[in-house]
Amino acid sequence: MQKHEPTSTILDHMDEKTKYLTPIFGTEASDAQMPRLKMNDQPVEPRVAYEMIREYLSIEGNATQNLTTFCQTYMEPMATKIMAEVMEKNAIDKDEYPMTADLENRCVAMLGDLWHANPDEQPMGTSTVGSSEACMLGGLGMLFRWKQLAKDAGIDIYTAQRPNLVISSGYQVCWEKFCRYWDIEMRLVPLDADHLSLNMDTVMDYVDDHTIGITAILGITYTGKYDDVAKLDELVEAYNEKHPKLPIRIHVDGASGAMVAPFVEPDLLWDFKLKNVWSINASGHKYGLVYPGIGWVLWRGKEALPNDLIFWVSYLGGEEATMAINFSRSASQIVGQYYVLMRNGFAGFKEIHERTLDVARYLAAELEEMGLFVLYEDADHIPIVCWGLKDDADVPWTLYDLSDRLRMNGWLVPAYPMPANMQDTVIQRVVARADFSMQLAVKLVEDLKKEVATLNKARFVTGNTQGVINTGFNHGGRFAVNAGDKDQTKAPSSRK
Ligand SMILES: *Cc1c(COP(=O)(O)O)cnc(C)c1O
Repeated sequence: MQKHEPTSTILDHMDEKTKYLTPIFGTEASDAQMPRLKMNDQPVEPRVAYEMIREYLSIEGNATQNLTTFCQTYMEPMATKIMAEVMEKNAIDKDEYPMTADLENRCVAMLGDLWHANPDEQPMGTSTVGSSEACMLGGLGMLFRWKQLAKDAGIDIYTAQRPNLVISSGYQVCWEKFCRYWDIEMRLVPLDADHLSLNMDTVMDYVDDHTIGITAILGITYTGKYDDVAKLDELVEAYNEKHPKLPIRIHVDGASGAMVAPFVEPDLLWDFKLKNVWSINASGHKYGLVYPGIGWVLWRGKEALPNDLIFWVSYLGGEEATMAINFSRSASQIVGQYYVLMRNGFAGFKEIHERTLDVARYLAAELEEMGLFVLYEDADHIPIVCWGLKDDADVPWTLYDLSDRLRMNGWLVPAYPMPANMQDTVIQRVVARADFSMQLAVKLVEDLKKEVATLNKARFVTGNTQGVINTGFNHGGRFAVNAGDKDQTKAPSSRK
């Protein structure tokens, strides 16, 4: 007689119940490996999958102690709530999500206002995935403008010489990508011990009639220093008077600084107030206080943004200009940006940044007092502290060793060589962010002193002198290497 097999029984049901009662770390799934190369055959209960993945990720460290990254590691609960609730919306689908598109436009308008764009010039802008995409677009704006002007001026733009971009050697790697992808010569103005930002004595020597523009950096990734944009604007203006057919314009890479300067140094001249600043980018996910990835790029007016970069999409029965490279992505970050702008207001941003600067300056003062370090940056503009070992420090260890020791306390504080021309100088950097509180800074200083004492006593140092850059969390901290000088990707020498 054939056994009757019902599709569902009370027993099955009880099994399910029993299964649900099994503690997470008593389940079969938690006893098995997580899938690696091949999908698992059977589903895994959500609470178990959640816990296993969470545990697995937890090993990579505590984001707040990661003092390498410029990227935000804290958002308040109501911000993450609204962001989670809009995760399914596609940010680039303006027709389908017109209210999201409207919030994006409002962010662009607010940033334009912060950066002193003149509404009469019809400023335009867009959100991007981050400053990397924003710099790409800013760079393309320069390239297309130059092409048109050069053609009109009767210059051979295709055969004689490649177009070039002038920027300091302290550039972030996205500029090297931009130049490589679009076959542009990168003209690097070297940094040196006396010029830790764009050298105003020599910058104009790099400019010729194939120059698409000059990028000024507001917050050099290595040190946090600002290029002197006001001075650059003067130099460019003098050049333009002599070259009316091919004027040079400035793009400001304000990845970090453009979201700090307006709040804490409102009198600093760097933005659209300057005549030749034609485009500006910022990372919403750095001091714009949003989780990655979001960035912004704005052009000062219609003339600054070539038509070739604009695409028209339908929107609320009309048309809307878009100029992003158009990656489909969630609207969460745009909504998050709108939230923090509205929630904090100008005063809130100012308070957060000033407090973060205080913490960074406390750290700088403590480091100075230890007597071993030369401070390259003490949070003058953005909350970044950057130091090297004094030449006469006479210690048997390097900053790489100190970085290793700090890591044992959970802190990620990278040591790395300066860019080409200064690669023998090794520095260490802390990027203070909103969630790096004063009490954490006090703890970091304690750990620093403890580890310096340990290293001073050590008979064997770890010998990490090969200068391998710690790549644990390198976003926003990728150190560019001079494209023409490949050897510098290798071992920088230690300070010893
Ligand atoms: C971080 C940074 C970038 C790249 O920004 P993302 O937002 O990480 O894509 C570009 N330029 C500078 C100066 C930066 O600091």
